[in-house]
Amino acid sequence: MNEISAALSANDWVERMSQLALRQGVHLSTLQQKAGGDLELLFASAALAFPSGALFTEKDANEILKRFLAGAGVMVATDHVELRRWMVDAGFLQRSDYGTDYRRGSLPDWLSDAAQQLDFERVADAVAQARSANEAQRESRRQAWLARQIEVTEGGEGRPNIAGEASSDETFMRLALDQAHNAWALAEVPVGAVVVKDNKILATGFNQPIGNADPTAHAEIRAMRAAAQLLGNYRLNDCELYVTLEPCAMCAGAMQHARIRRLIYGAADTKTGACGSVIDLFAIPKLNHHTKVRGDVLAEESRRLISSFFVERRELKRQGALPADADDCE
Ligand SMILES: [Zn+2]
Repeated sequence: MNEISAALSANDWVERMSQLALRQGVHLSTLQQKAGGDLELLFASAALAFPSGALFTEKDANEILKRFLAGAGVMVATDHVELRRWMVDAGFLQRSDYGTDYRRGSLPDWLSDAAQQLDFERVADAVAQARSANEAQRESRRQAWLARQIEVTEGGEGRPNIAGEASSDETFMRLALDQAHNAWALAEVPVGAVVVKDNKILATGFNQPIGNADPTAHAEIRAMRAAAQLLGNYRLNDCELYVTLEPCAMCAGAMQHARIRRLIYGAADTKTGACGSVIDLFAIPKLNHHTKVRGDVLAEESRRLISSFFVERRELKRQGALPADADDCE
C-alpha cells in the first residue's frame, strides 16, 4: 500500500468517500494496486460500523458488512465475505482469540484521529447524499436530452415524418439512444441497441463490460442474447439490429452467426468499427450472406452523446472521483 503520512481530517474523510461513491464496480485488488490510501479509507469506513471494544459474532459482522456494501461501500464490487477477509488481513478487523468473534482492529495513524470524530452514520449519509445528487444531475441531463430529441422529431421545420423504412429506422434508433443512456447512468460508455422483429422491439441492450466484468458485454451482444433467449432460437433470422455506434468485429461476427437480416447503426467508430471504418466484415462475401447494413442514422446524436460522456468523465477525473489512470477513451 501507498505510504501516507499526513493525517486526514474528518471532513476530508467524508469528502473523499463521497467522491469514491460516484464510481461503480471498483475491485479491491484494483484499489490496492492503484490507490492504497483509498482502500484503507474504505476499510476504515467499514470499521467505523464496529464500535471500539465491542465484539460481534461472525453472523453479526456479516450483516454489518452487507449493510456497508449496500450503502457507503456500494461502489465496491465485492461481497461481505471477501470484504471481511481483506479487512482481517489488513488489520482493520480483528478476530477474537478463539476466532469466533470480530472486533474493530487498529486503524492506520493517518486515519485514527479523524475516526474518533466520525461515526458510521455520518459517512453513510454523506455518501447517500452524494449519490442521489449525482443521480438527480444525470436524470435532469437525460430529461433535457429527451426533450431535445422530441423537439427534433416534432419540430423538423414543420414537416411531418416521412412514412416508410427511413423514418422507422430513426424511431428505433432513438430507442437505441435511450438504451445508451442506461449505460451512461452506470458510468459505462453510452452505446445502446435494440433488436426489432416485425416492426416491434424484441429486446434491448446497453454497453456494460465494466460493471459485468465481461469483455463481451457490448450493447449488441446483450440485445441479441436477450432476443435469442426470448425466441428460443440462436438464429435471429428476420430480425433487425439497431445500434448507436458502428459495431466492432466481435459484434459483427455475432450478427453474422445470428443471421441478422439488417443492421442499422448510428455513428461510425474510427477505432474499432467493423462495418467499413477499420475493416468491413459485411463486405466479405465468404463471411456474410445475410446482413444488409445501413450506417449514419442519427449519427450526430450518437456522437454527441458519447463525447458528452467523455467530457463528464474528464471532469470527474479532474475532481479526483475517478482513478488518475482511468481510460479517457473507449
Ligand atoms: Zn462490439
